[in-house]
Amino acid sequence: MTHIPHGDHLIAGEKIRTEGRFSSAPATGQAHEFSVGNPDLVAQACAAADAAFGGFAATTREERAALLEAIAEEIDARGDAITEVGSAETGLPQARLQGERGRTTGQLRLFADHIRKGDYLDRRHDTALPDRQPLPRPDLRMMQRPIGPIAVFGASNFPLAFSVAGGDTAAALAAGCPVVVKGHSAHPGTGEIVGDAIVAAIKRLGMDPRIFSLVQGGKRDVGEALVTDPRIKAVGFTGSLGGGRALYNLCANRPEPIPFFGELGSVNPMFVLPAAAGARGEAIGQGWAASLTMGAGQFCTNPGIAVIVDGPDADAFAAAATEALQATAPQVMLTDGMADAYRQGAARVGAGKGVRSLVTTSCEARNASPYLFEVSAADWLENHELSEEVFGPLGVIVRVKDAAQMEEVARSFAGQLTATLQLDDGDTELGRRLLPVLERMAGRVLANGFPTGVEVADSMVHGGPYPASTNFGATSVGTLSIRRFLRPVCYQNLPEALIPADLND
Ligand code: NAP
Repeated sequence: MTHIPHGDHLIAGEKIRTEGRFSSAPATGQAHEFSVGNPDLVAQACAAADAAFGGFAATTREERAALLEAIAEEIDARGDAITEVGSAETGLPQARLQGERGRTTGQLRLFADHIRKGDYLDRRHDTALPDRQPLPRPDLRMMQRPIGPIAVFGASNFPLAFSVAGGDTAAALAAGCPVVVKGHSAHPGTGEIVGDAIVAAIKRLGMDPRIFSLVQGGKRDVGEALVTDPRIKAVGFTGSLGGGRALYNLCANRPEPIPFFGELGSVNPMFVLPAAAGARGEAIGQGWAASLTMGAGQFCTNPGIAVIVDGPDADAFAAAATEALQATAPQVMLTDGMADAYRQGAARVGAGKGVRSLVTTSCEARNASPYLFEVSAADWLENHELSEEVFGPLGVIVRVKDAAQMEEVARSFAGQLTATLQLDDGDTELGRRLLPVLERMAGRVLANGFPTGVEVADSMVHGGPYPASTNFGATSVGTLSIRRFLRPVCYQNLPEALIPADLND
């Protein structure tokens, strides 16, 4: 069965067709036409979200949990169409799209359970002390409340889990915040089906349709209008450093600045400590190559840089990675633009001072094959550009002369989503020295594994110091991500009749 998209925006429960059209650019199959977004439409969506906020913020946790579960059901009901359109638009294999759908619906259900429990409200109560001297203490209660309409930018590399009904939307709706999504033009048809699922779930439960809108992109002014609309109170974004920084600046320069929760670039360094390199350098090299090439390297947690002490163990590690990468077949990238950017990034790294090529490939059209380079730590430390993200299956091995230089290299990294230690028993002392450096650098520190693959769980942190994210106190994955769309309110001496139900149960 072939799914034909309707090509309309979804504004407050209505399909809206605008004048301009843009064409999708699928990796396979037929292109389709979609309405181009514009600032007037963004304003309409934001006005609807704002009007719906009071009512939605006052819904019970159970009502919002039921909404999240209904969205998951409606997405599953459209599973085949989502896989078909998503795979054609992005070039991602069908199995990946099916897995990502499971993660997306699992995420929605996890948030339903999370808000039912109520811990996220962080409720506190300091009872009144009327007889306290020299002054009585009032009755003080505190809990987290939703902040208002949220703008969500669908990510190109996760058409489901970080897009229309992805983690940002799930967290915002769970918190009680209406959402206006700017769809990503790399997968407008996939976004549309998921948007239809959200609209259907809202309708089925008789909730206010104004709590959700999807504005398709096609023009730069859509994103600008969205983050500068005075009714928007925070932004969730996953994408490039350049785009994220431009939108962040717009948020900061508004008359009322708002938080911009951007998840931007990361090279996710991996440190192979000497005992581990000696005992299993070859296996780590093979595992690293597999992690680097997963999903054509288009994961924000792709471990692009491996740091290892120079010598025979480093040779064995590099040889194993080289062999594994040479055997990797070309993979289709998400867009033509990303394939171009990947080739340019590889050329930039390859031209760096002291950089040697271990695996070079000829990547054609939208295909990506792996590149592998190596460089001494001395040259690497002098050339900051080598530590910048190249989005795709590209690895750089940095050879350090000893443990002290490994620590120096570790200290030189900008903020990262993840940092990985490969270590065995004999590496404990160096591991202890590196841990505080890695904690300072990254949102997630892992040992003896690979960072691609982010568990959606209570303890997960997918964030980190800039440029990994624009707000290092936050995560965009896991239940803690709801905190981005909440703020604490203190209620002082409120009469019993006015105390919100969430504070009383
Ligand atoms: P992007 O270019 O940053 O675009 C993301 C979203 O932001 C799109 O909806 C885009 O709208 C919008 N946008 C970007 N710049 C804007 C601006 N100046 N004003 C208004 N809106 C703006 O990212 P992408 O298209 O997803 O991927 C491009 C590159 O981003 C990749 O090659 C990769 O390097 C990086 N990336 C990184 C991650 C990560 O997790 N670290 C994930 C995905 C991508 P338009 O579509 O209208 O341009």
